[in-house]
Amino acid sequence: MAKCELCKSAIAENFLGKLFGTVIKDAKGKKHGICSECQRKFKKEEILSKL
Ligand SMILES: [Zn+2]
Repeated sequence: MAKCELCKSAIAENFLGKLFGTVIKDAKGKKHGICSECQRKFKKEEILSKL
């Protein structure tokens, strides 16, 4: 199961395998899974600065 790279908790998936959360790309194009909770709490720039 995918994990949130900020809070390290598991990210739930729906029946299609889509994450309840988001995937953001950093400056190098690497993808990071972020849960919907962290997505709500932080702006994209803040998330990237914490990774
Ligand atoms: Zn999280």
